[in-house]
Amino acid sequence: MCGFVGVIGLEAAAPALVLGLQAMQHRGQDAAGVGTLNHGRFHLHKDLGLISQAIPPHVIERMPGSAGIAHVRYPTAGVDIGDREDAQPFITRRPGILLAHNGNITNVSEIEDHLREQGMHVLSQCDSEPVLLVLAEELTALRPAGHTLDDLHTALKRLMARVRGAYSVVAVLEVDGQETLVAFRDPFGIRPAVFGRHADGAWMVASESVALDVLDFKIVDHVPPGSMVVLRKGEAPILRTVSPQAARHCVFERIYFARPDSIMEEGRVNNMRWALGERLADDWMKKGLEADVVVAIPDTSRDAALAMAERLKLPNREGFIKNRYSGRTFIMPNQATRDAALRLKLNPIREVFDGQRVILVDDSIVRGSTMRRIVRMVQDMRPKEVHLAIFSPPVAHPCFYGIDMPSKDELVASLYPPDRLEIELAKTLGVQSLTYVTTEGLREVAGDRICSACFNGDYAIPVSAAEQAYILKNRSANGKRTAVTPDPVR
Ligand code: SF4
Repeated sequence: MCGFVGVIGLEAAAPALVLGLQAMQHRGQDAAGVGTLNHGRFHLHKDLGLISQAIPPHVIERMPGSAGIAHVRYPTAGVDIGDREDAQPFITRRPGILLAHNGNITNVSEIEDHLREQGMHVLSQCDSEPVLLVLAEELTALRPAGHTLDDLHTALKRLMARVRGAYSVVAVLEVDGQETLVAFRDPFGIRPAVFGRHADGAWMVASESVALDVLDFKIVDHVPPGSMVVLRKGEAPILRTVSPQAARHCVFERIYFARPDSIMEEGRVNNMRWALGERLADDWMKKGLEADVVVAIPDTSRDAALAMAERLKLPNREGFIKNRYSGRTFIMPNQATRDAALRLKLNPIREVFDGQRVILVDDSIVRGSTMRRIVRMVQDMRPKEVHLAIFSPPVAHPCFYGIDMPSKDELVASLYPPDRLEIELAKTLGVQSLTYVTTEGLREVAGDRICSACFNGDYAIPVSAAEQAYILKNRSANGKRTAVTPDPVR
């Protein structure tokens, strides 16, 4: 997982890009980069670390141009801490394109083989570079320079026929002799991309709408699946379909990854989490269980816990104090540091749990290891009972579309048959009961235009066994390919 932002039409793009990017630091903490186009010259700076470390103020001040893009990269999941050359944006000289992307290309090895045959070498371990090289190859096949809007449209048609997987992309280049900001999404629109307009005619595109809020851009629309949007200062957006399919937006973004104040296709993210909490409450009531208090495991679960408490007419209490400076546990590179990070991150408040029948609310069950440790921490607070309520189905299949989940044999839900799952998981996690939103319940709340393959194995884009092996090997062996994908290990 990563985050990107692009702007065009501002007097100074770089400061705006970095501000917008800072609203999406949660989407990537491994590396950050910013690049602009100014009268035919590209300027690019990228480095490892948080935005404030990777992009120092003097870089922002000296980077000219009214159009540009910026990117945050998700940390690696393996032992490596990531390489500078994997940071985005990427740039080509022929033709000049500055590009950043969020997602996971499933046929990346096939694309790299083809590029090598054409004498082009991929220098990084990041999926964005092959995407950029394919775009450059398709554009130059049409003409060497002076590309038109139709050229861009044709090149993207060919790109979408060649590149499989999840990709939301932002780029700046010259089209029709003008500086142009373009964004496009894979045919299923798996990863998010939203664009908006400023009152003075400038445009912004970003992974999440919170980036637009920061600079007072108003949302115009989400980039439709399999479509491109071309943005230029003072002009109306040019929206063209390229290769659309029925939408399959990543539901895990809504459940877990995106900020609650972001707006996705279905509306504000916190509203969906609220509706899932109400759904959980209904399922809980059907079981005839009783409890004294609802406690969210912060932060993602707050809306669902509030909704559940309201529906059940129970108090909702803050049972954990989160150390905001410790980082998210799943970004830690190995189990030992994840353990330590969790202890550092969540401090339970004894009085909330002591002698109580507690419903703990969380977003997902992936490995189950983090949850087991949280439950153990809560048991030390001497509660009468601990019940677990999860506002998504247990993750039972790996994601090949940009969320760096473990392989199937590491997913705790894959250990048990579906008819025994709830009971066995409750035992494994050490709680009195487990209630989770089923895949049917999730679909009722989130609608049909979602990808939920990690819950039900229904992959919109087929991923061959060789491609699966390649993706998983790159994740676990060197952690570099995962530089563009997160590890939400829980
Ligand atoms: S498989 Fe899961 S995490 Fe991956 S894109 Fe689909 S819903 Fe999102």
